[in-house]
Amino acid sequence: MTREVKRQLNEGPRIRREQELVSKMIHIYCRKKHHHTAFCEECQELNVYARNRLSLCRFGEDKTACAKCPIHCYKQDYRQKIKDVMRYSGPWMLLYHPIESIRHIPMPGKGRK
Ligand SMILES: [Zn+2]
Repeated sequence: MTREVKRQLNEGPRIRREQELVSKMIHIYCRKKHHHTAFCEECQELNVYARNRLSLCRFGEDKTACAKCPIHCYKQDYRQKIKDVMRYSGPWMLLYHPIESIRHIPMPGKGRK
């Protein structure tokens, strides 16, 4: 599949998994904090923003955890919001999605479709 975009977007398995993870965390946060069953407007915006940051991450599949990254690509207010989400949803992730929380290591030998 060839796609012409201004910049090559990341779509490797690692990035995709992190995108799923961040969406789940925002979802938990919104449900518990904002009492929305789906994303509220603010969280939807954050969700789109966070997924875009991952798509555009310059390290791609070699990225480290965002918290450890030397490049802070988030804008200040989004950064604060995602920090709150991580802090809040982190413990819930262990409860709801323990496998994803632990399996934060790239799986070798899994070819792309
Ligand atoms: Zn919300």
